[in-house]
Amino acid sequence: MKSFKVTEFNGPLTEVDMTTPQPTGSQVLLKVKAAGVCHSDLHIWEGGYELGHGRKPLSLKDRGVTLPLTMGHETVGEVVAVGPDVKGVSVGDVRLVYPWLGCGKCETCLAGDENMCIVKTNSIGIFCDGGYADHITVPHPRYLLDLRGLDPVTAAPYACSGVTTYSAIKKVEAFIDRPIVIFGAGGLGLMALTLLKAMGGKGAIMVDIDATKRAAAEKAGALATVDGGAADALQQIMTKAGGPIRGAIDLVGNSATAQLGFDCLAKGGKLVMVGLFGGGAPWALPLIPMKAITIQGSYVGSLHETQELIDLVREKNIAPIPVTKVPLTKVDDALNDLKKGKLVGRAVLVP
Ligand SMILES: [Zn+2]
Ligand SMILES: [Zn+2]
Repeated sequence: MKSFKVTEFNGPLTEVDMTTPQPTGSQVLLKVKAAGVCHSDLHIWEGGYELGHGRKPLSLKDRGVTLPLTMGHETVGEVVAVGPDVKGVSVGDVRLVYPWLGCGKCETCLAGDENMCIVKTNSIGIFCDGGYADHITVPHPRYLLDLRGLDPVTAAPYACSGVTTYSAIKKVEAFIDRPIVIFGAGGLGLMALTLLKAMGGKGAIMVDIDATKRAAAEKAGALATVDGGAADALQQIMTKAGGPIRGAIDLVGNSATAQLGFDCLAKGGKLVMVGLFGGGAPWALPLIPMKAITIQGSYVGSLHETQELIDLVREKNIAPIPVTKVPLTKVDDALNDLKKGKLVGRAVLVP
């Protein structure tokens, strides 16, 4: 099998040829059909996150990411071999890989929230090898979701950007009869816009500093868009909302978006922090109690939420977000384009 590995942080990926492993026990081997390129892959590739306030950057090496690593956590594959203990999937099945694995044994994992495991994170494509390859091994068939006819290329991003936005919107579900303010109109933002509508929401005011991305959001049906870099951005957001804002989702996660996301909220509002751009918290502490604001972090989503999302996509016949197919061998170009902010929608690698 062929894979493209990070062998040094920030360096070009290395093409590696090795014998295709045979699955043992409960393992399932899939031939990769599509692998989404996610913004968080840039952080893995770069080796960490900025934390702001002069703090030492959060190092992924310190958090247990070891090299060489095959990235790729948005993977769809066709089952080509199964271990002797596997039940429920057969050779030929096309499945979406749920990548947010934990230890699988603790209370949190057994409750179905492996993405929140506090014992050990085993996320596929981050802590073990993922989908930037022509084959992938998954430890158990329960992590393989039946796509039932959905297109592998456009469905791959549901494993990360899809379930991340779905889970974030569920956290402001009480407020979706009003406009929700969404920061960031890249791949996640367009996905959020689409899902919000499918979940019965009124719609979103999309904030982005990039005019191309704002145009894409308008085309995708945003209620309004605002340039987050404008001096009067806060005023524009509040005017365009036409009433008190209760829910905001920050898909960028820098000090500027977190500040605007907080400031635009009415009393009792909620800011859901999703983006991992980096920086320090900008909020004046007394305003958090005085406005009774909830600030909630949201990290990917559970296996159950991923299944709910796929069911929703099928039931509501949700149109896919724009994707650009990129040959697997051009993975470096895809990462560099993403880094430069040149991609609209999502790049999906196809072997
Ligand atoms: Zn991701
Ligand atoms: Zn666990």
